[in-house]
This record gives sequence, C-alpha cells and structure tokens, in this order.
Amino acid sequence: MAIDLNALRAAVDAAYAEHHAAVGGANADYIPYLAKVPSELSGIAVVTVDGDIFAAGDKDYPFAIESISKVCTLALALEDVGPQAVQEKIGADPTGLPFNSVIALELHGDKPLSPLVNAGAMATTSVIKASSVEERWTRILDMQSRLAGAKLEMSHDVNQSEQSTNFHNRAIAWLLFSADAMYCDPMEACDVYTRQCSTLVSTVQLATMGATFAGRGVNPVTKESVLTASNTPFLLAEMTMEGMYGSSGDWAYTVGLPAKSGVGGGILAIVPGKMGIAAFSPPLDPVGNSVRGQLMVAAVAKAMGYNLYAA
Ligand code: GLN
Repeated sequence: MAIDLNALRAAVDAAYAEHHAAVGGANADYIPYLAKVPSELSGIAVVTVDGDIFAAGDKDYPFAIESISKVCTLALALEDVGPQAVQEKIGADPTGLPFNSVIALELHGDKPLSPLVNAGAMATTSVIKASSVEERWTRILDMQSRLAGAKLEMSHDVNQSEQSTNFHNRAIAWLLFSADAMYCDPMEACDVYTRQCSTLVSTVQLATMGATFAGRGVNPVTKESVLTASNTPFLLAEMTMEGMYGSSGDWAYTVGLPAKSGVGGGILAIVPGKMGIAAFSPPLDPVGNSVRGQLMVAAVAKAMGYNLYAA
C-alpha cells in the first residue's frame, strides 16, 4: 500500500512539536566528549524507500553514531561470512543485561549472544575480512557511508575521547580472545570498533541508512544496491532482539518495530518495505536510549499505524 506522504509529513511535524523538548534523562558521561554535546539538541527524520525525506529540528547536526554502528558492521559481516556464521560465532539472542556486561559472557559460556552489545560487536568487527587494521576500518567506514548515501567521516575528537577511556571494552575483547571467540587480534578489534562508534552522522543520514535496510539493501538516495536482499531480515531480527538493550522487549511490546539506539543520542527504527525513522537528542534513560528520540520515533510509528505485530 502506498505511503500517505501528507500524513507522514504531519506525523513527523507533530512528533517533533510534542516531544522535542521533553524533560528527563542525561547525556552519557562515561565518554567525556558526549557529556559536552548540548542537551537541548533534538531532531527527527524519515526517509522512505522511494527517497522521500521529511525532517524537523536539528536534522543535520552531526553526532556520534556510537552503537548504531553495530548494525552497519553486522551488515558487512553478513555479506562477508553469511548469516549462519554470524549466528554460530556471535548469536541472535538478547543478553538481558547491560550493553557492556561482562557477566553476560560468563553466563552464556563466553558466547556474546548478540552483535548489538559491545562484546558481540567487537567479535563482529573481528570477522570482517581484512588483512590489516586500516583495511578493516576502511571497509567498515565505506559500508557506513554507502548505507547513509553520504561520505561519512570519523570525528578525531570523539575517537580520542573513547580510545583514552575504553578500558572496559579492551577487557571484554581479551575475555573473548581467551574463549576463542575473537577472530582477529583483540586490540585491533577494539580499536576499529571504537573508531566505528566515532563516526559522525546526521539524523537524515541515519534515516537514509534505515531506508536502505527497509528497502532490502537498496539505498533510495543513491539507488546503489548496498546489501544482499536476503540478508536484511537477519539484521532486523537482531535489532528486534537487542537493539534497544534492556528495553528491547518493552519497545517491541509498545512500538513493534526493529530499532537500534546509540549513547550519542541517536535512534533508528525500521518499517520494513517502507522507511527508516530516525531521531536524535542526547539525554539518555538509564539503559542508554535517547529519551526524546524514543518518544519522537514512537509517535510517528503510532500516528502512521506502523507496528510489525499489528500488520
Ligand atoms: N562506544 C560506546 C561503547 O562502546 C557505544 C555504546 C553504546 O552506544 N551503547 O561503550
């Protein structure tokens, strides 16, 4: 069924008007750079699989992609090693624990369970085919750019801020290595993972990534076929299971769309076959999801009647 573009435009404007200044939450502060991003920033964007774009607020502000990068690297891993290897080596289940949990590894026989928590994301980075650290990084940045339909770049400030404070992630990388669950040098995986989190992206670019996932791998802006169509359902399933961390179940229950958040304040939801819905605002709730971002995305989905389980 064709998308009612007038209704979509109205839904985006209404979601922004109602929620862009919602109170509550706090910027992530364990990464020093993120603590300093202005908390009042707020933006929303939708991009359809036909390339229609509707957006409001700080839609072009470049922010750190953070954990949403995990979906891009997973997309590349699915291309490189295929869905079966991803499921066997990394997993497709929720951990039920915070995104940087070490206990999750201990409980699950050192299997990360999900490519969308830090352990599984570093393992995913490690399975990317590359013969050097720079090749691993360049291939991931190139995938991020092709998904977004724009030449994305890493912020040296964000990267510096993360590389000088990411001791917990380094420890997780070594734990994986000790359990034979790391597929390149563990510090290389941690380094490249940290760089991939430091890419800057705008809300419109994020929604374009979402439209590419929604359109079975075809970027609606560049028209490039970025992903193998049969791989996108695996991506969306992983997002449903763990994309919103400890609130993934509540999100599925109340909104019903695959989504992924990042501690930079970004959030991306996918309406399969139709569009990507992205939002950005730095203050996070206790599990690490943008407070305003969740409200804005949920409002658009509700206004348009988009819920996978109600389709
Ligand atoms: N770079 C961050 C980290 O590894 C990303 C976490 C997130 O966005 N949830 O801790």
